[in-house]
Amino acid sequence: MFGLIGHLTSLEHAQAVARELGYPEYADQGLDFWCSAPPQIVDHITVTSVTGQKIEGKYVESCFLPEMLATRRIKTAVRKILNAMAHAQKHGINITALGGFSSIIFENFKLEQFQQVRNIKLEFERFTTGNTHTAYVICKQVEQASKQVGINLSEATVAVCGATGDIGSAVCRWLDAKTDVKDLILIARNEQRLLALQAELGRGKIMTLEAALPLADIIVWVASMPKGVEIDPKSLKQPCLLIDGGYPKNLATKIQHPGVYVLNGGIVEHSLDIDWKIMQIVNMDVPARQLFACFAESMLLEFEKLHTNFSWGRNQITVEKMDRIGRMSVKHGFRPLLI
Ligand code: NDP
Repeated sequence: MFGLIGHLTSLEHAQAVARELGYPEYADQGLDFWCSAPPQIVDHITVTSVTGQKIEGKYVESCFLPEMLATRRIKTAVRKILNAMAHAQKHGINITALGGFSSIIFENFKLEQFQQVRNIKLEFERFTTGNTHTAYVICKQVEQASKQVGINLSEATVAVCGATGDIGSAVCRWLDAKTDVKDLILIARNEQRLLALQAELGRGKIMTLEAALPLADIIVWVASMPKGVEIDPKSLKQPCLLIDGGYPKNLATKIQHPGVYVLNGGIVEHSLDIDWKIMQIVNMDVPARQLFACFAESMLLEFEKLHTNFSWGRNQITVEKMDRIGRMSVKHGFRPLLI
């Protein structure tokens, strides 16, 4: 059995979903209500691989909302993630992906020190961040979508916003080792981590977002921003490919500008319909087939009976592991979302 721990993107989103699902009394509640809501299993899932194998899973809604971080309700955010993990384990789930902010909160607030949640001792090997598959899928999107929009990687500058993060650093490693991309721009706030990444790669220009935007042919957005940024599409090159892998999205507005292509990053499409409701709730374009790559990672580990924390810790994703999860992804019928 696989599991997915997820959350909604904002209080407004949570209220709309509650209304849609027929809980009008929840729809009028503010952030305090969501702060006290316990985790719940809200979906039961069956996935069939193109090999014919079938697996079962559960979706655990943690009731975390990004506003909890924005308003410094750190203890609440931590409690939400630990409770959701304990809930998944209590229900006998063998491998669970920590979606969206769940893994970021786990790492940032060092939750491995809180292994005991009431009467449950968390077994961390039952959880995966899903970031290896996400990073792999984003790299494949860079490689394949660039061709679709007429960008030649050997002449292209790729800017990675969130370069020092778990996914961002893996994307940089792959682009350096597996492609002939001309230039890499590294964007984040902490300079020390940027310098360490630059030293590891032996390349990459460190820049601010504002300085990088007009220079980049491709921008990979994988910054852990609780709210997206506004950018002026007129400041971008044409063509320019924006791959937004953030959850919530790193880009605040829907950009419609000639020559600027926006692609949902870290999203895979399955070859067969999945029997579930949850991707409708997060507004996926094709909810029966499209999903977050991190969730797909827990499905892949279940298909392969690899009940282990395949992606764990921070900035330890290797190109070899990305290749390995990539082979499983292809074998079971997932492919990166393209334009
Ligand atoms: P990390 O916390 O490991 O990394 C975040 C990165 O963003 C760091 O480099 C951080 O560096 C940088 N950053 C944060 N805020 C800003 C800012 N305002 N401006 C510039 N850089 C910033 O996160 P992950 O790599 O685990 O996740 C990245 C994103 O991907 C998240 O939005 C997450 O929800 C999403 N995600 C998507 C998945 C999918 O399946 N599609 C799966 C998992 C995650 P610094 O703090 O120094 O600025």
